[in-house]
Amino acid sequence: MFNAQILTLFPDMFPGSLGQSLAGKALSDGKWSYAAHDIRSFTTDRHRTVDDHPAGGGAGMVLKPDVLAKAIDATPHKGPRLLMSPRGKPLTQNFVRELAAGEGCMIICGRFEGIDERVIENRQLQEVSIGDYVLSGGEPAALVLLDAAVRLLPGVMGHDQSHAEESFEDGLLEHPHYTKPRIWEGLDTPDILQSGDHAKIALWKRQKREELTKNRRPDLYQKYLAAKG
Ligand code: SAH
Repeated sequence: MFNAQILTLFPDMFPGSLGQSLAGKALSDGKWSYAAHDIRSFTTDRHRTVDDHPAGGGAGMVLKPDVLAKAIDATPHKGPRLLMSPRGKPLTQNFVRELAAGEGCMIICGRFEGIDERVIENRQLQEVSIGDYVLSGGEPAALVLLDAAVRLLPGVMGHDQSHAEESFEDGLLEHPHYTKPRIWEGLDTPDILQSGDHAKIALWKRQKREELTKNRRPDLYQKYLAAKG
């Protein structure tokens, strides 16, 4: 079973959104599990200090290496040790798929200016970013990462097929969706979707996906073309 061991200064932020809907149901059904550990409980001083001033001066505070390393060493876990960080490798569907195929991970949520570099080195932390912007802490990023992974676990989403055509699964964005009523505010649904011709519909979807990706994400489209050869 997929298990996430989370190190955070705010364990109450979990399961957060992951306690609801699909992920929440999967959690209570035992299809995945997590534990959120308070980094502060690994301090040994009277003031329970987790941070200190940056060496060399500068703004903000830095998570202390001794406390964090102690938390890491005291927490048995399976899979990679991930550090949520804006400097990390951008999170992709490929990465999420690999993670979900494994047995779990440790996720470290930074706060303040971040964590002491030496912990990243000595505990082989893999830095993961959820985008080019700065959050105030790694917790929302961890929720994003876990949300994306949990929905791919076996039995969590009804239709395994619903993954196959999704955005990013084969390098393309998804085609548009329609449902009833067939005509809404004067707008009709594309005729082809009413035709019952599944081969034609599949072709239409593929064309829409290519078109959309080309217009909105030329970077993805170039990669898609290159992969297609
Ligand atoms: N001073 C750092 C930002 C610290 S933000 C810098 O400039 O790179 C505080 C914490 O929020 C980080 O340690 C990280 O855990 C988390 N965080 C912020 N932005 C993030 C992002 N885009 N992706 C993942 N984690 C992020």
